[in-house]
Amino acid sequence: MVKILGAGLSGLSAGINLLKKGLLVTFYEKRKDVGEQILPNYQGLLNIEGDIKKYLNSLNLNPDFDMQVFSKAYICTRKRDIPVKLAESIPFVLRGGKNSLEYGLYKEALQLGAKFEFNSNKKDKDVDIVATGHTRCDMVAFGAVYENLNFERDCFLYMHDDRLSPIGWYLYLIPYTDGKFEIVNCVSQPYCNQAKKLFFKGIKERKILREIVGQNKPLHYFGGFGGVDIPNSAIKANKIYYVGEAAGFQDICRGFGMKYALESGHLAARSLLFHKESYDNMWKEKFKRQFKKDFSIRFAMTLLKDKLPEWYFRNVKDNDIVDFNKITPKGVIIELLEEICYELEFVRKKFTGHW
Ligand SMILES: Cc1cc2nc3c(=O)[nH]c(=O)nc-3n(C[C@H](O)[C@H](O)[C@H](O)COP(=O)(O)OP(=O)(O)OC[C@H]3O[C@@H](n4cnc5c(N)ncnc54)[C@H](O)[C@@H]3O)c2cc1C
Repeated sequence: MVKILGAGLSGLSAGINLLKKGLLVTFYEKRKDVGEQILPNYQGLLNIEGDIKKYLNSLNLNPDFDMQVFSKAYICTRKRDIPVKLAESIPFVLRGGKNSLEYGLYKEALQLGAKFEFNSNKKDKDVDIVATGHTRCDMVAFGAVYENLNFERDCFLYMHDDRLSPIGWYLYLIPYTDGKFEIVNCVSQPYCNQAKKLFFKGIKERKILREIVGQNKPLHYFGGFGGVDIPNSAIKANKIYYVGEAAGFQDICRGFGMKYALESGHLAARSLLFHKESYDNMWKEKFKRQFKKDFSIRFAMTLLKDKLPEWYFRNVKDNDIVDFNKITPKGVIIELLEEICYELEFVRKKFTGHW
């Protein structure tokens, strides 16, 4: 029997893959149910092959869950608010609560015969896979849900303004189908105590947000943090596999950790099942390029802050078509630059103590 600590995305992804090959799996979850780690909110899945269902199927996952797909966005820099069309629509999946992605995976695992022990206090050393989410704080997100949306329903907003989202982070707004909407502000670790204050500063000082929020009071707040670290090995004590953010797999540039969580869970299961290749070799090979991109962009964003998106979007005009999946340029020179910036980001972290 395989024991998994944490019934979030990475743990459920690993567990379902093991269950589908006939193994018995027990999940030990510290909360009273799945999807309790955060209040309901929508999170974006970027850079996936095909549509989201196809992507999940490629990881042997077939959950039901709520999602929204946006084909328009407002890109807001410090100086401009630019409405654009998206070359490829971006899916946002519900996280937290009963209709969330993790809850859909939970139901799939139950159908496959998984056992769940809630309110568990099992420890890492007692299990085979650790999938307990973040262990460190490198970035903080603070958000609120409002009602009475006064904005386009099929359009999300994405803002780079370092006065609100230091250092080189961003703020976003996502409309819900029921007329509610969420606004979330992300900041890096040195500013974690100011995330809430900067969120309200944004709503007060940026006209576009002020007008959307109007007289609405927040229905509830939510948030969380993310931790990033590339480990030498994600296998501890020679046998315990760490997946998702518990291993340190998170996107240091945008906080998009879902893909890392789902894929590392899938890889850990494959390694446990087939023993052909070590889990460490598999995740290093699979995530290598993306880590380079994430860390090099983080280096550039920390250095240039919101001037980089200001420059990047300088030629984008109202209603232009933008491809968020191809937002980072490609080519040999870019790869070389990425390599250099990737190394520099680690040097910078050594001196400043944070990414
Ligand atoms: C506000 C916010 C917005 C985000 N937006 C995006 C986005 O747009 N796109 C994106 O890709 N990512 C986003 N992320 C990041 C993404 O949510 C995480 O990277 C992802 O959920 C990590 O998955 P995981 O399986 O590692 O951990 P989780 O999904 O957090 O699951 C961990 C599970 O383990 C349980 N647990 C914790 N400790 C223990 C313990 N000791 N014993 C037993 N169980 C335990 C928890 O209760 C939870 O169920 C966002 C995060 C936040 C906070």
